[in-house]
Amino acid sequence: MRTYEDSYRHKGLRMQLVKILKDKGITDERVLSAIQHIPRHYFMDSAFDKIAYEDRAFPIAEGQTISQPYTVAYQTQLLEVKPYEKVLEIGTGSGYQAIVLGEMQAQVYTIERQKKLFDEHRKFVLRSKYPNIKYFYGDGFEGLPTFAPFDKVIVTAAAPYIPPKLVQQLKTGGKMVIPVGEGHVQRMLRLTKQADGSATQEIFENFSFVPMLEGRNN
Ligand code: SAH
Repeated sequence: MRTYEDSYRHKGLRMQLVKILKDKGITDERVLSAIQHIPRHYFMDSAFDKIAYEDRAFPIAEGQTISQPYTVAYQTQLLEVKPYEKVLEIGTGSGYQAIVLGEMQAQVYTIERQKKLFDEHRKFVLRSKYPNIKYFYGDGFEGLPTFAPFDKVIVTAAAPYIPPKLVQQLKTGGKMVIPVGEGHVQRMLRLTKQADGSATQEIFENFSFVPMLEGRNN
């Protein structure tokens, strides 16, 4: 069961979480402000209300996870999102990362490959607050050619390699933040698309994500 009440206690816990993220090196005020505003406990069963604001990942349905707040903040900061930019997210999951981007006034397109998670999210209470987020059921390796090109792409599952179609769907000068690697640990990469269609690469910290899998799942 979930409860949708955002009390002063929850707001206080979020303030503490924001402080933890600052201490860990997150400096982008727009990212911190989005996290301060979004009730993360709405994304979890009410039994876990208290730990919703600890800095850790948490299981949701279908063996998937809501990413750790630090990971969400870190990826979002690397993405350098500006208002009205078109952002493609791979791996909707709980929808938390998408809503962080939506709160930052991006035009968000998010894809989930698991039908159950996709369907469950349809009834999510915060959804109507963010008409700037569009949800798709599909395979993230394919991206969304109909809506390309994108200013930014964010992948929130462990990619075994850089999906070429996602690079194609970036604008020149556009950026993609993607954890790459098989096994338990992935390297966070930031790619910047060049005019000749190639992409330059910057390498950041190690993280641990659930795998990015090929194809859709019913
Ligand atoms: N952004 C999410 C993190 C979810 S975990 C959040 O904020 O909660 C990663 C998600 O990626 C899972 O839901 C998983 O089903 C999904 N996923 C894995 N491979 C995918 C693919 N090829 N296309 C779309 N989604 C994928």
